[in-house]
Amino acid sequence: MSQAFIADRVRVRAPGKLNVFFEVGGVQDDGYHDVASAYQAVSLYEEVWASHSDDFTVSVSGSIDSTDVPLDDRNLAVRAARLVARTAGYEGGVHLDIVKGVPVAGGMGGGSADAAAALVACDALWGTDLGGQRLQRLAARLGADVPFAMLGGTAIGTGRGDQLSPALAKGRFDWVIVPSSEGLSTPEVYSHLDRMRGASDIRPTSSPDVDPAVLQALRAGDAVALAAALRNDLQTAALSLRPSLRDLLELGESIDSSLGGIVSGSGPTVAFLAEGPEAALELQVTLSAAGYEALHVHGPVSGARILPA
Ligand code: ATP
Repeated sequence: MSQAFIADRVRVRAPGKLNVFFEVGGVQDDGYHDVASAYQAVSLYEEVWASHSDDFTVSVSGSIDSTDVPLDDRNLAVRAARLVARTAGYEGGVHLDIVKGVPVAGGMGGGSADAAAALVACDALWGTDLGGQRLQRLAARLGADVPFAMLGGTAIGTGRGDQLSPALAKGRFDWVIVPSSEGLSTPEVYSHLDRMRGASDIRPTSSPDVDPAVLQALRAGDAVALAAALRNDLQTAALSLRPSLRDLLELGESIDSSLGGIVSGSGPTVAFLAEGPEAALELQVTLSAAGYEALHVHGPVSGARILPA
């Protein structure tokens, strides 16, 4: 009997992500877009504590405003727990306590991190032993970003973003991220991009691919080269829906210690890359002095992991 099987509760940590490259292709017949993404897991974490219960319940705490997080079966972590139970034939339930560190609807995959953490936590709490590969397959059924939250590190995602291959990355990259108090809806940002492309007759590529310059910069641990190759096709749509982000990007990019900035995923979180921890600290202080909430994070970090409870 494993130690996890007899635990009263299990604590799992899963990271938020940045997309350092995100190319969006056309809409497919199923309504989804083909994408090519370079993900990096960063040191902003969700924690999920799982304990035995007859039912499936969830509570949310932490420093992040979680007003918009559903506390019923729409919660991605609850859906993940139910999926593990269904797959393993487990008949009990679980209480999940989510401690949020990743901004809600911020484009950093916080809900996906909760789902990944819940998959790992329930499998350990119930002793269902589904194992890494089956949990990865369940992750892909829950959402495009969930498999990456399981894996962590640096990875390339194709298809809907969920067909992952790990990418080589050397050293660490220092980022300063600026969350917004109000989120952006991912489906809304995609529809806005489609409308903008339709209106300007831009035909998206039929086979999105990560720029080799991004892979080279990651492999070399070269922040200057990575900053020059940052790209996010959703950024134009996010800036159009939230014009104030343009001022923030311009300000951040004008600061000497910033190498470049990008909207993270569907936004509205903006991430600036710095050459190292000291430059990141300088950038954080300058952005804070200008009235922005600015957090220093680094990547890559590992995916969903059990921690001592
Ligand atoms: P992504 O970039 O993966 O599309 P995001 O980081 O922009 O997502 P999330 O914080 O993951 O945004 O949440 C998006 C929406 O999903 C929220 O507005 C909320 O209604 C819903 N949601 C469901 N479960 C969760 C959860 N556990 N945490 C946060 N949001 C959740």
